Amino acid sequence: MSGDLLSFEDFSSGSSLEDMRAELSKSGCSSSSCGSSARPQDMPEEVWAKIKDHPCYSEEAHHYFARMHVAVAPACNIQCNYCNRKYDCANESRPGVVSEKLTPTQALRKVVTVANEVPQLSVLGIAGPGDACYDWKKTKATFEAVSKSIPDIKLCISTNGLALPDHVDELAGMNVDHVTITINMVDPKIGTRIYPWIFYNHRRYTGLEASQILHERQMLGLEMLTARGILTKVNSVMIPSVNDQHLEVVNSEVKKRGAFLHNIMPLISDPAHGTHYGLTGQRGPTHSELKELQDRCSGGANLMRHCRQCRADAVGLLGEDRGQEFTLDQLAADVSYDPSKREAYREIVARERGDHVAAKTSAIADLKATADKPILVAIATKGGGRINQHFGHAREFQVYEAGPGGVTFIGHRKVEDAYCQGGFGEDATLDSTIATLAGIDAVLCAKIGDCPKKDLAAAGITVTDAYAFDYIEAAISRFYAATMAAPAALSA
Ligand code: SF4
Ligand code: SF4
Repeated sequence: MSGDLLSFEDFSSGSSLEDMRAELSKSGCSSSSCGSSARPQDMPEEVWAKIKDHPCYSEEAHHYFARMHVAVAPACNIQCNYCNRKYDCANESRPGVVSEKLTPTQALRKVVTVANEVPQLSVLGIAGPGDACYDWKKTKATFEAVSKSIPDIKLCISTNGLALPDHVDELAGMNVDHVTITINMVDPKIGTRIYPWIFYNHRRYTGLEASQILHERQMLGLEMLTARGILTKVNSVMIPSVNDQHLEVVNSEVKKRGAFLHNIMPLISDPAHGTHYGLTGQRGPTHSELKELQDRCSGGANLMRHCRQCRADAVGLLGEDRGQEFTLDQLAADVSYDPSKREAYREIVARERGDHVAAKTSAIADLKATADKPILVAIATKGGGRINQHFGHAREFQVYEAGPGGVTFIGHRKVEDAYCQGGFGEDATLDSTIATLAGIDAVLCAKIGDCPKKDLAAAGITVTDAYAFDYIEAAISRFYAATMAAPAALSA
């Protein structure tokens, strides 16, 4: 194992500034690349500077940095068939009620409180319910107040694009570097099956005309952002038999217009959500349908595969949600920003990160030279790019493909409930976790008991804690070498 071991568990449960300073002052540094940049060689310095701490725009950054969303802009100017206004914006959230809507003043109080307590925080997003560009006054007031108090926080919005062209210059003026547009089609005929109506220029439009206007405004907004150097992520909701065969075309059209990332997300549909799709039985795609589409799109616009479809009031690393710790009733009436924890955390990450990238690069090269067939490996992690979570505590597993192409992050699998509840394993939960891990060859975790290990083996999934606290890619590469050299071990 390389590098000093960071306790991301301590950070996520609220470590003190003293703990972090002690970590920083430990004598000596075993890092092989202290302070080195993790910037990919083919990425310009100015682009790297914008994404290196953004957990959504950089897969690597999502191991270290956290986002928070504030629900300040609830009004919307279109209707999507996968959305019910009582629920979070499905553009950027799993459908679920937002705990509370905030005024810009309340949002400032919440952001400052979170920044003081969650040192990983790097991004503030406005991502539903509603449209950040349509409900513009509240979006603008929130961003202005927060950037005055916490100047280094990255500001990020998500929009359906209809009102976007009206605000691109103001976004550029406020130093907003990251905008997400949800683009589900570039053919308005397909749009008629997704959008029943839009509200534009004081008028309601339906049918083909509505989708035509929406499409033109989305393309115009994307081109305007690109022209101003604002990084644009395009979200597309994959809706089987509606736009699933069309999203390759969307990928290539948004690439032509300068989109930085394309995030193809599965439709989440359930009658309980009360959406049109939920009530009419429209299904979402399976894990393998999503992966097949993403694979078909590779080579086009760069794909984001680590999206968690967060709630509109999510707080924390992408795989976690600490939103319930920061509801309005828990916030102090007066708060002022103290940057010390975030600064100390960043120093620790800078030290750790170069080492992680060096370990990852060498692990991938080793695997490329020796691997002959791909396998899927699920990882239990709490962050920091390491295998540092007990199997029984995991609420999601990060999934990597390992093989002749190296080690590639391909997504995550959420489990309904952690297997271990109050120190005891739940059999029913284990069954559902095993079902969630269908198709996975191996699980690497920090610790696992004999019983779940046996049940996983019976389901054809190897699980081991032999690589506890290693960097993920290095562990996967060593696991591959050990098991594929002795293939019997993979099914043992
Ligand atoms: S843009 Fe967002 S809030 Fe508006 S209808 Fe679509 S998903 Fe819902
Ligand atoms: S919904 Fe996806 S893009 Fe938005 S904050 Fe969550 S992970 Fe990032």
